[in-house]
Amino acid sequence: MLDYSPIVDKIVREAKQQANKGEVASYIPELSCVDSNKFGISILDKNGKGFHAGDSGEQFSIQSISKVLSLAMAYSLAGEELWKRVDVEPSGDPFNHLSLLEMENGIPRNPLINAGAIVICDILVSNLKNPKSDFLSYVQNIANDPSITYDDKVAESEKRTGFRNYAAAYLIKSFGNLENDVETVLDFYFHSCSLSMSCEQLTKVFYIFMNRGNCLKNKNYLNLSQVKRINAIMLTCGFYDEAGEFAFEVGLPGKSGVGGGIVALLPNQFCVATWSPGLNKKGNSKLGMLALEKLTTETGLSIF
Ligand code: GLN
Repeated sequence: MLDYSPIVDKIVREAKQQANKGEVASYIPELSCVDSNKFGISILDKNGKGFHAGDSGEQFSIQSISKVLSLAMAYSLAGEELWKRVDVEPSGDPFNHLSLLEMENGIPRNPLINAGAIVICDILVSNLKNPKSDFLSYVQNIANDPSITYDDKVAESEKRTGFRNYAAAYLIKSFGNLENDVETVLDFYFHSCSLSMSCEQLTKVFYIFMNRGNCLKNKNYLNLSQVKRINAIMLTCGFYDEAGEFAFEVGLPGKSGVGGGIVALLPNQFCVATWSPGLNKKGNSKLGMLALEKLTTETGLSIF
């Protein structure tokens, strides 16, 4: 069994010395209050052993990382029908892009850009009795951690400023690819993005994508084909117009969020989460990407 303690300690030491930490997201006002000096990393290995360093126990807004979780739940509920409403091609564009080319016939390029995630949220709203609480329970159950919650302040803050997401939702609706009303779908979308988790909690939730669909308690949530496909989408679309760079530098399927979190995994080996609120120009955590590059380069462990 590998001991990841030395590498996580080294990564935190080196991150603390970095002068250029990137810019904290400010387009969602509530996110701009976060301290840019925070840095945490957690690794959870296949056997359930955790390795933590820095601010790994502190909760932050997971933002777009939630798109993988809503996709997983919608995929379990809707099956292959889901792919009639959202494509699986990388976009090469920013997360909030909404040109008509990105959405030919109202079908978003993939489920991890905002437009695609909004369609996934629509599927959940149609399929769940109480979408917000049912989705939260799903996430809590996977992690076996009932303390995971939404951050209502962040959700409200985004609702007030989420004009581009409203535009995307109305555009999709105009093509007939949204079953429910825009307000309801976006209220659910903003809440799912507002989930608060620590690096430690994130690795527990993403354990299912590393461990063939099974959580730490060995309950199954996804079949092998679904896990393969979701991991493929994370690899090709998880970092928007920087997905190529992330595969090139890090070589793992993963997902970022504008709260500064990144989660990634090596199938059947480990799950890793980093948190550093400062973002690079593409909206991905600057030091998080550097840390993960270091991890896979120094251990030689990546999917390649
Ligand atoms: N909730 C954010 C938005 O819709 C998520 C963006 C992100 O994390 N990339 O803009």
